[in-house]
This record gives sequence, structure tokens and C-alpha cells, in this order.
Amino acid sequence: MSKEKILVVEDEEAIQELIRYNLNKDGYDRVRCCDSGETALAAAQEFAPDLILLDLMLPGIDGLSVCRRLKSDSRTSAIPIIMLTAKSEESDIVVGLEMGADDYLTKPFSPKVLIARIKSVLRRVNHTEADPIGGTLKRGPLSMNRGTREVLLDGVPLSLTFSEFEILYLLARRPGWVYTRGQIVNEVKGDDYPVTERAIDVQMVSLRRKLGDHCTLIETVRGVGYRFVQE
Ligand code: CA
Repeated sequence: MSKEKILVVEDEEAIQELIRYNLNKDGYDRVRCCDSGETALAAAQEFAPDLILLDLMLPGIDGLSVCRRLKSDSRTSAIPIIMLTAKSEESDIVVGLEMGADDYLTKPFSPKVLIARIKSVLRRVNHTEADPIGGTLKRGPLSMNRGTREVLLDGVPLSLTFSEFEILYLLARRPGWVYTRGQIVNEVKGDDYPVTERAIDVQMVSLRRKLGDHCTLIETVRGVGYRFVQE
């Protein structure tokens, strides 16, 4: 069985070759590389990749603009994107995630981590973790029911506020998925009171305190946001 098609957008030839080599080595033989935003946009349509590795620092149309265009075009909006970034581009990472990019890798990255991230994103996309209909969301020691708003941790009921429940549920639905503070605000905001990004940090402190020994279920991604730990 042939593996998924991957489009690599990277203007540095050495990195491009390194990525291609490692993808091929892992059995991804349908790989196309391009070195500019313009060619990437064309290839996204014509090659119809299953996943795009997108460098943010590109000549011409930069990576974030490419991401925005891909996500706003119905023909390409569903293609998962992993951003390739420099460590200094944390604010760009946040913007990219809020535009709909699925994940990011900070350069330099090891081939092993690259392949693991690709597999993780493809797995998430293929098994869309939708709401369990009328059922209970189970993640390790945690179980949550959105209908009854019951939360159990190791079988013991946990008392959460409305917002704490919403935040935890949002993160737990997609383990490994990084949410920025802005995304969390958008998801949990009440209609009649403002929720700020700072308030999210405060909620997180309270939520982790309630999770006690299991506080590591929520990971802080420095400079970017939060995620539920991936098993
Ligand atoms: Ca670059």
C-alpha cells in the first residue's frame, strides 16, 4: 500500500533534501518539493497532497500567507499543515495555529521527530475525534460527559466550574493538539462576559490544582499554548 502524498515547502536545498531522504526512507515515496510560496500554492491544487510541510520563512509569499490562502480555499482547507519554524518565530507559530495549521516543528529537528509528527497528524486527521454522541469521553484516568457535565478522575467525581470543564473537554478531545490561548478563548467564551487570554492561564492553574497528581495531563507549550498529553 502506498503511503500518503506529502508536499514539502522549503527554500533551503539542504533541508529540503534531508526531509525528502527521510520521508523516502520511511516509505513515503510520493513526495513533492517546492521552494517558494507561489509554487506551493500551485502544487497544493495540482498534486493534492495528504499533508504539507510548510517552512514559514520563504522568499516571496511567506509561509503564513501560504497557510492563510490554503486554509481559506475550500479545495485545500482540509489538507493538514505542519509548519517548519525557527525558534524565534513563536508569535508566528501562534498565528499559524490560529489560522488552522495542525502542528509545527522547530528547526533543527531530528528525522525521527519529523516522521513521528507526520504520523501523529495523519492519524489525528484520519480519526477525527468528534464528540462522543451522548457518550463519555475517556482519556486515561479521566472521563467526561458533556451531557451530564460529570467528570471522573480515577473514578472519583471532580467538581469543575463551567469554564474549567469546557477548557479541559476542548483539550481532551484532541490529545497532542496544541491550542493557543486565543483558540481556547474563542471556544469557551461566555456570551455575556469577556474571557481574556490571561484569564485562561488563571483557569489553567486552578484546573491543574484540581487534577492533582494527574496535573501533567495538561502540558504547557511555552510561548504557544496548551495541549492534552498524548498517550
Ligand atoms: Ca526558509
